[in-house]
Amino acid sequence: MPEYWDPEIETMPVADLKKLQGKRLKELVSYVYENSPFYKKRFDECGIRPEDIQTLEDITKLPFTLKQDLRDTYPTGMFCVPNSRLARFHASSGTTGKPTVVGYTQKDIDEWAESLARGFTSVGVGKDDILQVSYGYGLFTGGLGAHYGSEKLGATVLPTSSGNTERQIELMTDLGTTAIACTPSYFLFMIETARKMGISIKDDTKVKMGFFGAEPWSTELKKRIEDESGIKAYDIYGTSELSGPLFTECSEQCGIHIWGDKFLVEILDPETEEPVPDGEIGELVITTLTKEALPLIRYRVKDLTRKLSEPCKCGRTHPRITRISGRSDDMIIVRGINVFPGQVESVLLNIPEVGNHFMIILDRDGPLDNMKVQIEMNESAFSDRMSDMMALKKKISGALRHVLNLAVEVELVEHGSLPRSEGKSKKVIDNRKM
Ligand SMILES: [Zn+2]
Repeated sequence: MPEYWDPEIETMPVADLKKLQGKRLKELVSYVYENSPFYKKRFDECGIRPEDIQTLEDITKLPFTLKQDLRDTYPTGMFCVPNSRLARFHASSGTTGKPTVVGYTQKDIDEWAESLARGFTSVGVGKDDILQVSYGYGLFTGGLGAHYGSEKLGATVLPTSSGNTERQIELMTDLGTTAIACTPSYFLFMIETARKMGISIKDDTKVKMGFFGAEPWSTELKKRIEDESGIKAYDIYGTSELSGPLFTECSEQCGIHIWGDKFLVEILDPETEEPVPDGEIGELVITTLTKEALPLIRYRVKDLTRKLSEPCKCGRTHPRITRISGRSDDMIIVRGINVFPGQVESVLLNIPEVGNHFMIILDRDGPLDNMKVQIEMNESAFSDRMSDMMALKKKISGALRHVLNLAVEVELVEHGSLPRSEGKSKKVIDNRKM
């Protein structure tokens, strides 16, 4: 029997869920029109009155919200509540210019924690579990998000945050961590560090599952993590603008459940802005249905995914999205060809001699773009024979060319020579912009 955090909501008939969404959408539109000068102005400019939104289908009449809107109204210009009602702020890193600030009422924080409690429960996390939160704590939402979610369901939290990796592994071993939450690249680093300490996560710890997210990762990387650490690797998904990490895969592992009573999912063609059919890749657009401090209407997350609407085998009726295959913002254009770092990762990790780390370096060679990939080899794959190395290089560049339709320069580097990440990893260096 599958365990549910809230069986009534999680398994509600699809028709009832849609009815609830329609009702909440209608309420939301009135709420933001009355409480957010930003949305009032935007709706007025588009000639939309709250009463124009009567059903779920009317959502397409509403304008999109972009991350730029949050920047333009920095810091709190889009908030719908006065400061006296705010319980907390978070902020996303501002790689270019100002960060974006997110505010929460106490109800927003409770609902955030509940969303994750549902997800953690759906893969069997319970009161006996010790969940090590190795996402950064602070303005970044990963740490506190996973923390509150697991406290909500009564698991024991080990709030290590990121960094200090040897100590993390010591505590993991001594206290008997059973589940971990961090970026996939940080977990790779943990596996490697543990090995250097003479500890095998597979044999010497009680870790049986991990929640990995905050950066796109491929199915191939998931498989490597599972093989090397002996754990089950689950997707966890969310972005700071929507609250933080909110959704996970369930034990069926066929998509991430998006809680439809709180969030409305659309998948659009980024060019035409029209919905794509179920199962086809497009850009994720989410409307928050119940948030008080910073509700967002048709927020363009810029992550690329597919939507699966049919009910899951686990019994949950809420829609699912597939693993994030990349961000539309991450796309690089090389000699006119669109390349996603995730494609490169998928190709490389399918080659057994290749290690877990790589770096894409883009340069301009006269009028032409040059794409080089530095690739770490597996510890065991290194050979003194030049001919072996040449053959491997040829195999890798052939595989990359086949998928990317692009000639790529391959450089094999020693195991351990590329930078490791304790948070979100950087996989592209673009020297063309300098
Ligand atoms: Zn499910």
